Amino acid sequence: MSAHCCAGPSHSSADPRYRKVLWLALVLNALMFAVELGASWSSGSVSLLADSIDFFGDAANYAISLAVLGMAASTRSKAAIFKAACMGAFGAFVLGKAVFNLSAGTVPEPITMGAVGVAALAVNASVAVMLFRFRTGDANMQSAWICSRNDALGNVAVMLAALGVFGTGSAWPDLVVASVMALLALTGATTVLKQAGRELRHSALHSH
Ligand SMILES: [Zn+2]
Repeated sequence: MSAHCCAGPSHSSADPRYRKVLWLALVLNALMFAVELGASWSSGSVSLLADSIDFFGDAANYAISLAVLGMAASTRSKAAIFKAACMGAFGAFVLGKAVFNLSAGTVPEPITMGAVGVAALAVNASVAVMLFRFRTGDANMQSAWICSRNDALGNVAVMLAALGVFGTGSAWPDLVVASVMALLALTGATTVLKQAGRELRHSALHSH
């Protein structure tokens, strides 16, 4: 549910069916990013905002996979740095929004939260199934499985937060889930930034 998500090309990039599936995954993730942003705005839910970070990150991953296939490793690292920086900033924004909602006493509307959480899970599951037959090799299968599982956990956390808000009439379940997800995004972004920085230094070293 954070900056880890791995949509890197594992399959021959020349396969037009694979490119088509990547495009579809990109569109679906970008769409769900917009839906969660809008629903977070209309329902006042911060956990929906936090969950949208993952759709943003995954959409960016599919875009990077489509755009930089066959390009220099340094281009890929720069794209990863840009994505991670966006996700880190987004995570910080979500934390700020949680504090703001807490002080404003905003209680989110749980029906929208729950419904969008279910839709998000359905989209993530469909994308996982679509990409499944293009996965090759044990390591690749495993990382794809971890990503899908983390995405699903995020969606389920939003649903549980909705249930908690519905049951207690308080904003706390939403704020706790949102803060955990935002912190995970921040940690994930830091890890990616460190690793990409190392890769960039490495490739700079070898180009001279
Ligand atoms: Zn993801």
